[in-house]
Amino acid sequence: MPETQDQNKEKQPLPFRSGTIAIVGRPNVGKSTLLNQILGEKVAIVSPKPQTTRNRVTGIRTAESSQMIFLDTPGIHQARSLLNRRMVDVALATLHEVDCVLWLLAAQERIGPEDERIAETLAAVANPVLVLLNKIDLVSKGKLLPLIQRCSEMLPGKEIVPISALKGDNLPLVLELIEKGLPEGPKLFPEGEYTDQSERFLASEIIREKIFLLTREEIPYGVAVTIDEFTEKEEKNLIVVKATVHTDRDSHKGILIGKRGAMLKEIGTQAREELEALLGCRMFLELFIRVDEGWTRDPNALREMGL
Ligand code: GDP
Ligand code: MG
Repeated sequence: MPETQDQNKEKQPLPFRSGTIAIVGRPNVGKSTLLNQILGEKVAIVSPKPQTTRNRVTGIRTAESSQMIFLDTPGIHQARSLLNRRMVDVALATLHEVDCVLWLLAAQERIGPEDERIAETLAAVANPVLVLLNKIDLVSKGKLLPLIQRCSEMLPGKEIVPISALKGDNLPLVLELIEKGLPEGPKLFPEGEYTDQSERFLASEIIREKIFLLTREEIPYGVAVTIDEFTEKEEKNLIVVKATVHTDRDSHKGILIGKRGAMLKEIGTQAREELEALLGCRMFLELFIRVDEGWTRDPNALREMGL
């Protein structure tokens, strides 16, 4: 009775799917923005400056028919220092371990040799790769079409989707394509969890984000934040955080502190306000500055900071 069998098949619910998804692409193409849009919660930091995501941030999206575990990797780009090399290694190693790769390109930027290099790496990835042309809100259709053409030449057979991570354009389609590409499997994390990053890590990332945003070009990427104390005082609905801002140059200390401490105070205030909103409690935040000359070149220091 093939007919009956077919009918039964139609009535069966879709199999549950679960797996990991890496978001890769050059710095500043919108990886964190995309992740935040998909998750609806701020877990990866977003900044108009490149390279602010140094660690892998995992976001989890649990829906009726699937669970997606996202890895927001550091940008794949040329390794200039040991720190950058570490970032590239992490990003590249991730690609073969995951069930799906999202490659983000910014539609208003030209495709360069670096992108071709990434495409070469991605061509060797066996699992589904989606090419996402982001920031389409910034370009005209006429500019978009040749770009799509170029992508399909670089990565024949791969799905190409124009999106705007900022505005949410085409994100439902992206989610559908991701889900289709995931293997059948159970929930790997309990529902309701949107990230496995600790609140400590979130705190350090948000402090670092404020430093990037407030100090502009003055402070380059030689800044790291470690959390020295993170104590929850439940009865008072208060978290006490003590954090150290490490910089590799003595001259940056003054900039970070500012006139009569104004800069440090502003960094602290903005970080505290955002963390209070995210964690739903009051926070006492104390920031210290430490000059660790050459930490970006010191493997031990990098390890200590979890890089
Ligand atoms: P990442 O370095 O790849 O994680 O990039 P971010 O997510 O931090 O984004 C870098 C900048 O691009 C931020 O200023 C974002 O607001 C902006 N951005 C991201 N997606 C879009 C988009 O779809 N359209 C526009 N216009 N800007 C975007
Ligand atoms: Mg980012």
